[in-house]
Amino acid sequence: MKQLGFYLFTFVTAAAQPVTIAHRGASGYVPEHTREAKVMAHAMGAEFIEQDVVLSQDDVPVVLHDIHLDTTSDVAKRFPDRKRADGRYYALDFTLAELRQLSMHERLDHKTGKQAYPKRFPATTGGFRILTLDEELELIAGLNQSTGRVAGIYPEIKQPAWHRKEGHDISPIVLRVLARHGYTTKEHACYLQCFEFEEVKRLRYELGWKGQLVFLAGSKIKIDLAELAKVVDGIGPSIGAIVSERQVTDLASQAHALGLEVHPYTLRIDDLPKGISTSEELMRLLFDEAKVDALFTDFPDATVNWLKKTKSR
Ligand code: CA
Repeated sequence: MKQLGFYLFTFVTAAAQPVTIAHRGASGYVPEHTREAKVMAHAMGAEFIEQDVVLSQDDVPVVLHDIHLDTTSDVAKRFPDRKRADGRYYALDFTLAELRQLSMHERLDHKTGKQAYPKRFPATTGGFRILTLDEELELIAGLNQSTGRVAGIYPEIKQPAWHRKEGHDISPIVLRVLARHGYTTKEHACYLQCFEFEEVKRLRYELGWKGQLVFLAGSKIKIDLAELAKVVDGIGPSIGAIVSERQVTDLASQAHALGLEVHPYTLRIDDLPKGISTSEELMRLLFDEAKVDALFTDFPDATVNWLKKTKSR
C-alpha cells in the first residue's frame, strides 16, 4: 500500500482552485468518521477527507472526533461500569479490541441526549464501527486506486496535551502511521492539523513533520499571524472569524498576505450562521469574497458542486 500515498500535491497548491474538505467524511449524510461516511465523501469528489484521531488504551490511533465515546456510540450499554467519575466514557480507557465491539451512531447532544442534527441519519440505527487511522488510510488509498481520482487526507491530532497528561504521547504515533502510508512531505496530499500551538511547534521542530501543517485557530486567533506563518502552512479558523454578520472580516486577507492558506470550518446546511439563509450565500462570501483556499463541510457534494459551477462561469 505504501506507494499509494505518494501522490503529487500539485493539484491542490495555494494558487490552485479552492478545494473541499469532507468534515469527518460526508457526515451530513452518514454518521461521522464511519467507513461509510468516508466512502461517500470520496464518491462525492471531495479533494480531502478528514480524520480526527485519538488513542486507544493500547496506543492505537483511532478515528474519532471526541476523547469521549458516549455521544456517538453504545458504550454506556455495552460497558456500563467503565465510566470515569465525571460520568463520561473515554476512548483512552478501552483497548482497540473493546472499541471494535462498539456500535457507532449519529451524534447525540450530550446535554439533552437527543440527536444533535435531527434531520440527519437516524441515531437509532446503523450498526456502524470504529476505524483505526491505519484502516482509514488504507481505505482512501484503495479508493484512490480503484476510482483513479486522488483524495488527500486531513488528519487532526486531538488534545495532545490531555493525552500526554494521561501518559500517552499521541503525535509521534500518528506521524509513524502517516509515514507508513507515504505521507511525509509537502508534496503529498496531506494536511496535518491541531488546535494546540505548542504541539504544532513540537510537530515541526521536535518531531520533524515536514508535510503541510495547519493550526486550528478557532473563532478568535490568539497567536500573532506572523508568528504562525513561521511554523505552519495555513490556518483553520471557524467560519465566524471569516464571515460575521454577512460581512467578510479582514482575517483571510491578512493571512494570505503572510502566505498562509485559510481553511475555515464548518459548513452545515442544517446549521447555518445567523443571518445567512442559504449555503450558497455562505459559500459565495467565503470563496468569492474572502477567497478562502478550502472549506470544511459536512455536505461535500454541496461544496464540490458549488465550486464546479463557479469555476465554469
Ligand atoms: Ca477536526
